[in-house]
Amino acid sequence: MHGDAYSVSRSFRNAHASSRRFYLVNMRFICDALFEIVKSKMIPSALDHIDQIIAAPGKRLALFLDYDGTLTPIVSRPEKASLSDSMRETVWALAARAPVAILSGRDLDDIRQRVHIDGIVYAGSHGFDIAGPRGLRKQVAAEIVPIIDAAEKELNEKLAGIRGVMLERKRFSIAAHYRQAHESDTIKVQRAVNEVEAHYCKLRLLLGKKVYELQPDVDWDKGRAVVWILESLVQDRRGVFPIYIGDDLTDEDAFDAIRERGIGILVSEQPCSTAARYMLRDPAEVEQFLRKLIASLRVI
Ligand SMILES: [Mg+2]
Repeated sequence: MHGDAYSVSRSFRNAHASSRRFYLVNMRFICDALFEIVKSKMIPSALDHIDQIIAAPGKRLALFLDYDGTLTPIVSRPEKASLSDSMRETVWALAARAPVAILSGRDLDDIRQRVHIDGIVYAGSHGFDIAGPRGLRKQVAAEIVPIIDAAEKELNEKLAGIRGVMLERKRFSIAAHYRQAHESDTIKVQRAVNEVEAHYCKLRLLLGKKVYELQPDVDWDKGRAVVWILESLVQDRRGVFPIYIGDDLTDEDAFDAIRERGIGILVSEQPCSTAARYMLRDPAEVEQFLRKLIASLRVI
């Protein structure tokens, strides 16, 4: 009897131990799998690899910088995103040592006034409107501007009743910012933008951080703009090593465009899918990175 009770108890303990082992093995397996997924989405910090980045090219560096979320923190209203004195001084010092281009979704005049540094290239409207030193100038799809005028009028009417939505007209696009809108109104904004997009086959929808934007539907983006600027800046672009730093989806086109010939750096606090090779967490780290880069470059 006791023997049977002992056997039952032992086999119960064995079964319990076995199921515990099974549970632990499975948990371990799940944890390993999750770790692999997270690891695959993590890319190294540009700050930790500054020596490799500087040493990599053996060529002249050219810096391509996004503005919002890269040189300035993301703010509740786009008009409040001003460049700090120390970041301006950093970009200015960089421009004394290497070609610098600022690429932004903002209007060309807006981005030029906000950065306020002479002798560098500015690309507004996601690269559709480029201006730089020595008469550098390019405008893409200027013939579509009257269509954007019409779309602006229509979108204005559709969004009129939705609080917290800000419509921003740029020369080459129209942006509906909804960061200030109520969460439940987001779908209304999306529907309005989709309806207007459907009316105009020459416009396409661009998604940004809390912004829907309509821009000319042509084969041009920040990536094409970077390549065009690179070719314009130097006769032999094989002699230039581009570094592009940006935080938004629109910057992925640029990361892709320079993947074979330079380095893309994503500004993000979260690991995520990107064509960039390195990451920086925020504009403060961007400034740190640029300062280290400056220390390694001679004035030109
Ligand atoms: Mg940005």
